[in-house]
Amino acid sequence: MFKLKVHWQIIIALVLGVAAGSALQSMLGEGASESSWVEICEFFGKTVFIGLLKMIIVPLIFSSIVTGIAGLSGVKGFGRLGIKTLGYYVLSSVLAITIGLTVVNVMKPGLVDGKPNPEVKEFINNNKNFDKKGESVSKDATGLREEKHALGVVGDLAERMIPTNVFKAASDNGAMLSLIFISLLTAFGLMAIEGPGKEAVVSVIGGVNKLMIKVTGWIMCLAPIGVFGLMTATIAQTGPSFLLAMATYMVTVLIALGLHFFVALPLLLVLLGRVNPWRHYRAMRDALLTSFSTASSSATLPVTMRCLQDNAGVSKRTSSFVLPLGATVNMDGTALYECIAVLFVAQVMGASLDFAGQLSVVVLALLTSVGVAGVPSASLVAIVIIIQNVAEDQPWGGGAMAAVGAIYAVDRILDMCRTSVNIFSDSCGAVIIAKSEGEQGVLTDADSGTASGIEAEE
Ligand code: ASP
Repeated sequence: MFKLKVHWQIIIALVLGVAAGSALQSMLGEGASESSWVEICEFFGKTVFIGLLKMIIVPLIFSSIVTGIAGLSGVKGFGRLGIKTLGYYVLSSVLAITIGLTVVNVMKPGLVDGKPNPEVKEFINNNKNFDKKGESVSKDATGLREEKHALGVVGDLAERMIPTNVFKAASDNGAMLSLIFISLLTAFGLMAIEGPGKEAVVSVIGGVNKLMIKVTGWIMCLAPIGVFGLMTATIAQTGPSFLLAMATYMVTVLIALGLHFFVALPLLLVLLGRVNPWRHYRAMRDALLTSFSTASSSATLPVTMRCLQDNAGVSKRTSSFVLPLGATVNMDGTALYECIAVLFVAQVMGASLDFAGQLSVVVLALLTSVGVAGVPSASLVAIVIIIQNVAEDQPWGGGAMAAVGAIYAVDRILDMCRTSVNIFSDSCGAVIIAKSEGEQGVLTDADSGTASGIEAEE
């Protein structure tokens, strides 16, 4: 029977969603947000599709990390893989931030003839909503800051990583760092003990992992309906006036993300992994389309895992280790975006950031991108934290919140793009590391991307 492949189904759903969303926007204008059509679309997109993906994140991350590490040959194998993974995360994030910093300094989206862009300023000042939006984001950030450790952002990260209650951490999708920590500890513990108890635990967790991968396949059958719902709701609620005033800013972000996605990451694939980037794009297309529609790295994780194992031929061992960590810790698109957004706000507020100021933005973007959760608009909170840190004694701290509100208003489309960059970078890391570990099945199929089922399992 003729059956359209999943990525085609998703692409068609995306296009239909854009058309339906634009139609709703032009018929209902501002009122589109409250219409029951948008509510129905959000139900299928957010409640059902994203909800189901989120539902399996905790057991999937836990079981993948534990089985992944249990499959490594002792602590030595883990150490080697750990160092390679960390090295890749740092390299790709630094590359991303450098691109972001360069593009924002060249394009200067917040300035016109060296002065704060009057159009953007007027747009921000005239829209009282932005104050409220900015304030609500900064409230989340203030919560984090109050809990902040004397050791600064690093201390804050460590505090969030060590859970005081295992069950609480496992019941909270926002506590990914804690969950990774628990999973690593369990895996190491299992490596250190012997006897029948160990075998039983390892085989149960392995079974849970298989089960979660199966469930992911079922959830993906709903992807076209979910994607249609998400796209329709997004487009219907994004009026054109927002997009026009913030156009230069949005173009700046898109150029930088594009350079990282189409130039820097493929270069890493070729130079470090000796693999054909085109094949890798093809192998990852379901995951890229899912991340683009959901704007959530965490919700996309099950799909990323599946693409990497089934289409790119990366072993379970490597993908189970590199991906769950990467979905929370390695966020190239987010780090790049934070840099551009903070410098844009500084430009609009007329605050010049010297070299030292920009350097602190870079360091904070690198650190906060580690702690940002893989959910929609999560970087906004990090952006507020960075602004509060670098602008503490400067006048732009207070007024900047309305600008953050304006960024929020146009965030969705940029979020969809940066999330795709985030998950693509994780997948490149997994492929490069798999190659370096001597895995033979990586992107060797002439027609990879067709779910050929290559699994270089040990
Ligand atoms: N939405 C992004 C992700 O899930 C995080 C962010 O940059 O807001 O990867």
